[in-house]
Amino acid sequence: MIKTRLKKDDTVVVISGANQGQSGKVLFVDRKKGKIVVEGVNKKKKFVRPSQEYPKGGVISLEYPIHISNVQYFCDKCKIGVRIGMQDKNDSSIRVCRKCGKSFD
Ligand SMILES: [Zn+2]
Repeated sequence: MIKTRLKKDDTVVVISGANQGQSGKVLFVDRKKGKIVVEGVNKKKKFVRPSQEYPKGGVISLEYPIHISNVQYFCDKCKIGVRIGMQDKNDSSIRVCRKCGKSFD
């Protein structure tokens, strides 16, 4: 299990690896494997058989998981990938930008 504060629908930016600099929305977080799927990042072509989901089959383009440590939350105030901090607010904790303090939730 990997500890991460990233969630589905967060906007992240890739900070290392082959897809460095790309950004997108988080589609899926796999904490067990420490992997994350980001919209438009690490797309590979895949050959699929015709199925209900892909009636025609053939070659589709699909996002493949990348390692969680390769991405950071994209703060739209700082315009860069940042680390997420936690802050108490109304008896619960919210995620904030470690740099500028902007709330992410
Ligand atoms: Zn920020």
